[in-house]
Amino acid sequence: ATLANQIAAGEVVERPASILKELLENSLDAQAARITIHLQAGGMDMLSVEDDGTGINPEDLPLALERHATSKVASWEDLQAIQTMGFRGEALPAIASVARVEILSRTHDSGQGARIAVHGGEQIRLEPAARAPGTTVRVADLFYNVPARRKFLRSPAAELSRVQKVLRQIALANFPIAFQLLQNDRSLVQFPAAHDSAACAARVAAVLGEGFMANALHLEQSDRDLSLRGWLGLPTYNRARGDEQYFFVNGRPVRDPVLTHALRAAYQDVLFQDRHPLYVLYLELPPEQVDVNVHPAKAEVRFRDSRAVHDFLFHTLRRIIAGQGGDLPQV
Ligand code: ADP
Ligand code: MG
Repeated sequence: ATLANQIAAGEVVERPASILKELLENSLDAQAARITIHLQAGGMDMLSVEDDGTGINPEDLPLALERHATSKVASWEDLQAIQTMGFRGEALPAIASVARVEILSRTHDSGQGARIAVHGGEQIRLEPAARAPGTTVRVADLFYNVPARRKFLRSPAAELSRVQKVLRQIALANFPIAFQLLQNDRSLVQFPAAHDSAACAARVAAVLGEGFMANALHLEQSDRDLSLRGWLGLPTYNRARGDEQYFFVNGRPVRDPVLTHALRAAYQDVLFQDRHPLYVLYLELPPEQVDVNVHPAKAEVRFRDSRAVHDFLFHTLRRIIAGQGGDLPQV
């Protein structure tokens, strides 16, 4: 199983940031309200995710690390309208095959927790351990047993920056959850739980900058079963780098040519050349109209009616951007 897990690891475990994404999605699946991330060396030496979610029963801990033991897809309908983030049951086994993994967990109705440690895919112990209800997954010495893969990692600073990007993305899709990121016990990022629109706006400002937020166009539009809300940067607040665009489809971060094209077209002729608009946008549509599982690790989607989605986006955005015509800079 270890080899199959290592091959699967190639799919889901590229670097600390991709591990973080999987662990955060598990914590979200477990209904966590507060999630704390600890790092050493940008996550290359150590990355842990601590949550106050449902926890895992001691007898299920070994199963959590067995490939496909936990697959949640029971039917074709499940695939069509998948509600939970995780569905493949292979992230933890894959991670445990290329790092030293320890899981410490306690469910809310058990008096005691348990700890399991797995190194290079081999379970080394399962023992009782104290913890408040919730789960901590600790991943140390990434790729210690696959030196060829370790070579593909960048500097700790570069890995940290990717880790932060993943956190920002997940934080923007989960406002009610409190997040904190620490490196060597020093707090780098803190997002308090945001339950009202002012607090949500504050989180967006923390991610994209006060300057963006002070000038962003807020939008909330729906047309039949499509709805779009979020914040759109004014053309004057665009950036040379194109890496602070956030688009979520039914709460999942997504990169998609249909969406990118609609955005570009909407901004066409009001953007300085080679510039990228900043935005945080949330598209909601009935789950059966979108397949988010084209490639889970790559955040691709497939729309049943991509034309309708494209046109709805384009017209909504264009109307908002054009409505600002008086303020648009001359290009
Ligand atoms: P998947 O999320 O696709 O089921 P994973 O390998 O990511 O597969 O996780 C395996 C299982 O371990 C999950 O299905 C879940 O039951 C359990 N698990 C993992 N992380 C957590 C967590 N933070 N809280 C509660 N349960 C968890
Ligand atoms: Mg998972």
